[in-house]
Amino acid sequence: MKRLIPLFEHVVKKPVWDCRMCGQCVLHSTGMTCPMTCPKTLRNGPCGGVREDGGCEVKPEMTCVWLKAERRSHSSINPKRWEAELNHLRPPVNNQLKGTSSWINLVTGADRRAPAGWSGEALDEVHDTDAADHALATIGTALVEIDDPASLPEGFHA
Ligand code: SF4
Repeated sequence: MKRLIPLFEHVVKKPVWDCRMCGQCVLHSTGMTCPMTCPKTLRNGPCGGVREDGGCEVKPEMTCVWLKAERRSHSSINPKRWEAELNHLRPPVNNQLKGTSSWINLVTGADRRAPAGWSGEALDEVHDTDAADHALATIGTALVEIDDPASLPEGFHA
């Protein structure tokens, strides 16, 4: 089962969000845009090298992931709470969780164990939220969107 869940998560999330299986999913606070698709894997906003046309500094042919995240955070399919979460400070990614299931890590709390010395305010807010509620919301959204891809706003895919 421990191997099946990451596999299932990958099968569900790769085609929809180009999920890179970081193990600490933050889709609900990035307008359902995977920040790991940013060439610099920035999880707290754009780098400052965004081109005038909105293109990525590293890959000009792609729109900056964070421009998409900001736009999508206002999508009517995202709950108000997720819209507000865009401005939360996300902790550094723990690369030891790469390849593991973010769903399991959400339930066990492994995705919220921050590196020593980290004291981001966002963690307190994350701790206050109901982990199971987050898990169900993420899984539910994934299944609804897989079920009806036509319901996604134009350009919603990463
Ligand atoms: S944030 Fe991590 S788990 Fe979520 S879609 Fe992106 S790579 Fe996958």
